[in-house]
Amino acid sequence: MIIETLSVFPEMFTTPMNTSILGIARRKGILEFHAHDLREWTHDRHRTTDDQPYGGGQGLLMKCDPVFEALDELESPKHNPIPAKTIFFTPSGEPFSQALATELAQESRLIFVCGRYEGFDERVYTRADRCISLGDYVLTGGELAAMVVSDAICRLLPGVLGDEASPYEESFSEGLLEFPQYTRPAVCRGLEVPAILLSGDHGKVDAWRRMEAIRKTALLRPDLLETADLTPEEKTFANGVCNGTAD
Ligand code: SAM
Repeated sequence: MIIETLSVFPEMFTTPMNTSILGIARRKGILEFHAHDLREWTHDRHRTTDDQPYGGGQGLLMKCDPVFEALDELESPKHNPIPAKTIFFTPSGEPFSQALATELAQESRLIFVCGRYEGFDERVYTRADRCISLGDYVLTGGELAAMVVSDAICRLLPGVLGDEASPYEESFSEGLLEFPQYTRPAVCRGLEVPAILLSGDHGKVDAWRRMEAIRKTALLRPDLLETADLTPEEKTFANGVCNGTAD
C-alpha cells in the first residue's frame, strides 16, 4: 500500500507516520508513505497556495492551480505507474467508518489531499475520487484527518498486526462494539474478572463475548444494532437490554 499526502504542512506527518505500528509497517515495506509539500507546485516568490474568496467573506481559500498541478504529476504514470485513488478531506465528505477503512485497505495507492484555512476552491473536487469527513466538527486542517485514516487503514493490511485476525474482532468489525476485555490480575482493588474468562472453556468464552458485545452495543450505541447481523435470539436479547428487561 502506498499513501501519499499533499498539504502545506508535510512536516506534521513525520512523527505519527514513523511511530509504533505505522513505523513498523513502513520498515517492513508493507506501507510506503510520502508527504508532499503543496508549495512545490507554486510559481511565485511567496509560494502562495491561498487567496481571497470571490463574493467576499472571511478567511482564505486554497487555490485550484497548485492542487491541479500537483495531482497532474502525482497521478501520472511517470511519477508512479500504480493507479491511485485521490481522496480529499472536507467536513462535507462521506463520514469515515470502519467499513470505509476496510474498503480503502484494498487499494494499492492512495493520494490524500489536505485542506487548510477556509478549505478549497470548489473546483478542486473535480479531481476527487472520494471526499471524506472525519465527523461533524471542523479541524484546522486535513493533515490530522489523513493521519487518522492512514492509521485505520494501515492496521488492516496483512502482516501489520501480529495476529492477523485481530482487527476483525474489534469494535465495528461485525457492526458491534467490542466485548469487554480483561488482563491480569484476576482481582484488582476488589474488581473481579468474569469467572467464565478464567474457565478455559473456549466455546463458553466465545459465546459470552458475543453476548457481551451485543449487551455493550445495546447500552452504548443502540443505533448500531439496526445494521448488525444478529440471530432472532440475539435480537430479543438486544431489545431486552435496551428495555432494561434482559439479565
Ligand atoms: N470552511 C470549511 C467548511 O466549513 O467546511 C472548513 C475548512 S477547515 C478549517 C480546513 C480544512 O481542514 C478542510 O479543507 C479539510 O481538509 C480539513 N477538515 C476540517 N474538518 C474536517 C473534517 N471534519 N473531516 C475532514 N477534514 C476536515
